[in-house]
Amino acid sequence: MDSTCFNTAQRHSCQMMNPDLFKPPADLRQAGQPSKPNRSKTEQIRPELAQLVVDTKTGRSYSKGKLLGKGGFARCYEMTDLANNKMYAVKVIPQSRVSKPHQRDKITNEIELHKTLQHKHVVKFSHHFEDQDNIYIFLELCSRKSLAHIWKARHTLTDPEVRYYLRQIISGLKYLHSKGILHRDLKLGNFFVNENMELRLGDFGLAAKLETVEQRKKTICGTPNYLAPEVLNRQGHGTESDVWSLGCVMYTLLCGNPPFETLDLKETYKCIKEVRYSLPPSLSPAAQKLISAVLQKNPSDRLTLDQILAHEYFSKGFTPDKLPPSACVMVPELNPPSPAKKFFTKMAKSLFGKKKSKGKVQKQHCLPLSLIKGLFLCAVCEDALTPAAVAEAAMNALNSCLSTMPAASKNPPCLVKPKPFVWVTKWVDYSNKYGFGYQLSNQNVGVLFNEGTHLSLCDQRRTVHYCLTNNKHFTFQANALPEQLQNQKHIVELMANYMEQNLMEGGDLGCDERPSPGACPLLLQWMKTDHALVMLFNNGSLQVNFYTDHTKVILSKLSDSYVLTYISRERLSSSYPLSVLGERGSSPELRHRLRYVTQLLQHYASA
Ligand code: ADP
Repeated sequence: MDSTCFNTAQRHSCQMMNPDLFKPPADLRQAGQPSKPNRSKTEQIRPELAQLVVDTKTGRSYSKGKLLGKGGFARCYEMTDLANNKMYAVKVIPQSRVSKPHQRDKITNEIELHKTLQHKHVVKFSHHFEDQDNIYIFLELCSRKSLAHIWKARHTLTDPEVRYYLRQIISGLKYLHSKGILHRDLKLGNFFVNENMELRLGDFGLAAKLETVEQRKKTICGTPNYLAPEVLNRQGHGTESDVWSLGCVMYTLLCGNPPFETLDLKETYKCIKEVRYSLPPSLSPAAQKLISAVLQKNPSDRLTLDQILAHEYFSKGFTPDKLPPSACVMVPELNPPSPAKKFFTKMAKSLFGKKKSKGKVQKQHCLPLSLIKGLFLCAVCEDALTPAAVAEAAMNALNSCLSTMPAASKNPPCLVKPKPFVWVTKWVDYSNKYGFGYQLSNQNVGVLFNEGTHLSLCDQRRTVHYCLTNNKHFTFQANALPEQLQNQKHIVELMANYMEQNLMEGGDLGCDERPSPGACPLLLQWMKTDHALVMLFNNGSLQVNFYTDHTKVILSKLSDSYVLTYISRERLSSSYPLSVLGERGSSPELRHRLRYVTQLLQHYASA
């Protein structure tokens, strides 16, 4: 491990090594948008959208958050449904912009078409309504904006990242084509990215039903640089024309500029019609081959979506399962699955079979399956909790607490002897290289590796717990650890030593009565906002550490209720049953933090 990365350690319970990308919830930002000094005349006369939007038919109210972006017709805002704190991206189209029948038809077409779509890689359409000023279209919020934003910050992406995004685009596009729908405007700005860095295909403003070659409208639509030759030649748009755009997208992501970009639009069209572009030698041979097989003049010569997926660019190259949020602004450290992961995946398949566990279940229990040669115990946690399920349950509990909470100036008396629980006393973000390390109050240390596996050292480092996935666990005696896990164990030890030597514990808790070392919650997911670090655990608990004042909120799940522990600036902890806070109220300081945490959880729960 490169120890120089740790040099700037401060004596706090944490160390950050990654840029902060996650944005705070809308309502925690200053209300309203900062006014831009150079507004155009049309913008100046456009009335500001009210802070609160009400659907008079359903009675639902939505509070307006930040402006997400502006499109041809619409402005898109973050909005929160005040009934349940659910957040949306809402396209707001002024009635004045759709006063002509063909303009209204375009929006109606977009709504009617989008409504029918339901796919993992297509932006979810929620609902829509209108009032006398605007039409409001409620969409799944993609908080990391679009590939256009990522491309702007990065200029070029690596092959594994391009494979990661293209696979998802192709999955969404195959779905559209299977329903006889053409997107007709595939470009970086229409590939949205959600909180979890998953891609969603969006903006169906130009989408249309696929028609026979004879019936096809010969209109030119789409973004000039990505138009296919047959569309420019007014031969109509087919599925192959979407594939052409996909080839342009791949080229742009890998090379940093579109393939047919020139200073003059006429020249660009000429280049497209003649398929005149250059392949930089820096591109991998497989990428060059794939791009040339897609950018074929004759639509029937182009690869199909399935052929693209079967191409050696995909079959011989590594595609990550997920990308870290840091990939929005910098090259991620993406390692192909370690030999350990490969080995244990194979092992798990033979032991546990291929059956997948269900996503969300309230109760977690582990079933020891087999003891193999006395070396290790493996278990499959049936019904393992997913991060989204943990977030949703906690969000609901906090929401109901906040909704009943009376006004109060201080906290109620805290529990004198709260049941012992485990929390994170130190953490270190080394995700630019390996993963996120943390030390628990019972002295166990764990690392959630970037590739998704988790390894922890328990029982005074005598036991190693390895999780291949959230529901496939292996436990070993440290002195009988398979070779394949030695490297990961070494990294955990280095991070553990670093935390031990350089960071101080994050509060006064857990000194006299510690929970048993065996009670070892596993970190399922961590995420940073501008203000706080959020950690979700597989026992249904969560912890939020606020950076600036070092306060912490720990929500511990105890059977079917929660105990909330607040660690103050002075590092003093107080625990309360959540239900008591709901009945008696809390200090404004704590209430403010609970609101913030609830808003954050909304992002996870809806992801
Ligand atoms: P138009 O159809 O009028 O061109 P867009 O669909 O392009 O409008 O939306 C305008 C901008 O709003 C986009 O560039 C993007 O930044 C933002 N946006 C649109 N949909 C979403 C979404 N689901 N999540 C987050 N941001 C979005």
